[in-house]
Amino acid sequence: MNQQLKAQLKTTFGYDNFRDQQEEIIEHILSKKDTIVLMPTGGGKSICFQIPALIFENLTVVISPLISLMKDQVDALKSNGVKAEFYNSSLSDESKKAIQTKAENNELKLLYLSPETLFQISSSWFRNLTISLVAIDEAHCVSMWGHDFRPEYTQIKILRNQLKEIPFVALTATADRITRKDIATHLGLTEPKTFLSSFDRPNLNLNVKGNVPKQKKIDEILDFIESKPNQSGIIYCLSRKETEEWSQILEDNNIHAAHYHAGLTSDERDKIQTEFINDEIPIICATIAFGMGIDKSNVRWIIHNNLPKNVEGYYQEIGRAGRDGLKSDTILYFNYRDVKLLADFARESEHSTVLLEKLNRMIEFAEATTCRRKILLAYFSEELHENCGKCDICKNPPSTIDGTIIAQKALSAIKRTNESIGNNTLIDLLRGAKTSEMFSKKYNELKTYGIGADLNVNQWMFYITQLKNIGLVEVAYDENMHFKITNYGNKVLFENMKITFAAYKEKEKVVKGKSKVVKETKQLTTDEILFDRLKLLRRKIAVEENVPAYIVFSDATLLQMANEKPMTKNELLGIQGIGMQKSESYGDEFITLIKQFTQDLQPKKSTYDETFELLKSGLSIESIATVRGMATTTIYSHVAKLYLDGYPIKIEDFITVEDIEKIEKIIPNIENTNQLKPIYEALNGEIDYGIIRLTLSYLEKKN
Ligand code: ADP
Ligand code: ZN
Repeated sequence: MNQQLKAQLKTTFGYDNFRDQQEEIIEHILSKKDTIVLMPTGGGKSICFQIPALIFENLTVVISPLISLMKDQVDALKSNGVKAEFYNSSLSDESKKAIQTKAENNELKLLYLSPETLFQISSSWFRNLTISLVAIDEAHCVSMWGHDFRPEYTQIKILRNQLKEIPFVALTATADRITRKDIATHLGLTEPKTFLSSFDRPNLNLNVKGNVPKQKKIDEILDFIESKPNQSGIIYCLSRKETEEWSQILEDNNIHAAHYHAGLTSDERDKIQTEFINDEIPIICATIAFGMGIDKSNVRWIIHNNLPKNVEGYYQEIGRAGRDGLKSDTILYFNYRDVKLLADFARESEHSTVLLEKLNRMIEFAEATTCRRKILLAYFSEELHENCGKCDICKNPPSTIDGTIIAQKALSAIKRTNESIGNNTLIDLLRGAKTSEMFSKKYNELKTYGIGADLNVNQWMFYITQLKNIGLVEVAYDENMHFKITNYGNKVLFENMKITFAAYKEKEKVVKGKSKVVKETKQLTTDEILFDRLKLLRRKIAVEENVPAYIVFSDATLLQMANEKPMTKNELLGIQGIGMQKSESYGDEFITLIKQFTQDLQPKKSTYDETFELLKSGLSIESIATVRGMATTTIYSHVAKLYLDGYPIKIEDFITVEDIEKIEKIIPNIENTNQLKPIYEALNGEIDYGIIRLTLSYLEKKN
């Protein structure tokens, strides 16, 4: 590994190792060649241009479209001791002037600009700057095909021509082929080298649940959230109304949540977003618009209340979880009403063919009976050779059965209706349901009426899904979602071609009337308690410094801190994500907290033990009394108890044979030997209380 780069990574960012391609990318940029970086969200794109920026002599200009993100990124850099500023329309004239001066005096390593501002200043003071590198973040914004197209991005090409000698690096988390090509051509990059990372996000658990009845879904989601107290998550919904319903359901169950959709004012939206970033509102129920402009790294789960309309959108939305690399959960709920609604939307568009095709791929993913991660990556043209072992299918793989007869029954029923039947009616027909539709359409007269009565509705639902997955039938989205038999389906129906189905498994029974009141409270481990304390401290600092909490330290950093409990600055620097600057700024506070916490954990030493320790170290009883700020008699009584309890104490060191004899002699005359005073008085105060106490213990033990 290049030692200079490694040292930069450690001292500035606090990380020991580069992730997969980061080092190669950095070296390529340092050789002053154009570069395209395609890496999933959370992959670590920023460091790829930030380290070159630190190494290059002059300024690095970063073009970024999201003003809200710009401030956070600059704050993050500053917290690591890097001289960075952003310059955009949100600043006062005064601040703008100050930053301009800094840039002109070469006092900055990085300057973040929005594309609009860049072209406002490009013919004035910007021309006087000495620039080493230009980084274009969210580079897919240059592509007209994407949903984030920014016309200003197409002007970056002009800048590229003006700054011929300077390397440009374009970065994005969007990886489809058209976007990739557009980035190279529309930005005018010179023979750029493309670094494509795997789009796998191994820390995301993938789960899909189809056709769950509404109340059951609510119970499941409430249980899920209650099992993850204080964790951040997003529930994505299709409609504004649903976001409001969900936040209400959660609030009704004492779970703090807010809804977010385009119907709110921009102030309201900003406020919710900020409170989410600052961990003040843990849960947001949102339409898909939420999440674009935020960089929160500790979102721990994503729930889709409905089927997303395509795999790109789904991937982007689940991608907002676990940017810090810690394990995060995703659950997708879908039902056939969603499918119908989405298909209707798609059909109304002028690009209906593409949209329907994309929707189909999404449905295939949701209905899959093989490893979901494989399917997801295959969508992005990536191959996963092994099953992931972590998705719901891998964890609970379906066993298989010979599905030929089941398939033939369904196909034959479809055939006899002239392929003019959809999911629910088909099930009714197969099961011989006595509905008015069956009679009005004379389905009850068909040979296939009731031939599938041996299977229940859920079983049929499950197997019909596989008819579609395997490709025996297609759904005609433009014909009331009726089934059409494919060539393959005809082979099964007429040529007896064998097929295999995943076997239906009875879902675990939901206990009726389950009490929501009596909840087991999860017992936290000490590391988890410390983690919570560390988060509180981080929160306090974030508020003081007016930055999002994750900029102080990421959850991953705090978690490692809670596990390893560093107690010196040196140990602290061993934690991933703590560089020199952060160790200086925050180290003492965190170390103090960890020390205090660990001390509080030690079982409290009894007052007797403390006396014993001091005794062992050779102090006299009088000195112990002084050290501990206690009366000598108290210490004597400690020694007496320790002696009786069997501690290794040589009592002869403290009392003389004469004293013992004197006391032994007088005892028979004393009525109550539990009290010292009568003995003391009987001896005319010749022997101290303490000695009397010790002697009594000695005699007690002897007898
Ligand atoms: P992206 O821009 O690709 O979404 P970021 O640049 O924001 O991702 O990085 C995501 C997270 O990963 C950040 O918390 C960052 O500090 C962390 N990170 C980046 N590189 C490394 C590394 N080499 N080792 C450990 N953590 C890293
Ligand atoms: Zn899997």
